[in-house]
Amino acid sequence: MNIAEIKAAVDAGLAVHWANEGYLVHKDDLGQYLITYKSGGSTIGLTDKRGEKLNGDGAEFFISRPDLGIAIHCSACGSEDVMRDCWATWNAELQLWEAADLQDHAWCNACEGGTKLAQRSVRDYGEAAGRGSSGVSYGALSAKAERWRAARVETVNTQSGDRSG
Ligand SMILES: [Zn+2]
Repeated sequence: MNIAEIKAAVDAGLAVHWANEGYLVHKDDLGQYLITYKSGGSTIGLTDKRGEKLNGDGAEFFISRPDLGIAIHCSACGSEDVMRDCWATWNAELQLWEAADLQDHAWCNACEGGTKLAQRSVRDYGEAAGRGSSGVSYGALSAKAERWRAARVETVNTQSGDRSG
């Protein structure tokens, strides 16, 4: 990124970092663009005094990923492999069961038992982002949820079949 790109990104409210996410580029009340290291709190200017040269390699500046929303996890073990009960209603137009009326009862596949759910921001990546754990968990969760929903629908169909037969 060059000076103009970095300033534009900061002005747009994006999180711009240098080298790693520990260094954040921001604008102070005086309109100065600064690089601050979050742990030590030490700050240097984004550029030299004349504003012509970046205090760092332009290639090392980057924008952290956009907010990915929240992740739901088990409050007991932290696993994201969790499910919730819900009622389903038949959508005749789409010819499928639709999830409706989410229930409070939650289940953790890791604990293999009922649990209380909690949520955390996915924006909190840092090291986690490098492992891509959030993406994997999301995929696994949705796949399981699909199977679970399919199993539920099958049960309902069997029951109605029993009645007609
Ligand atoms: Zn759990």
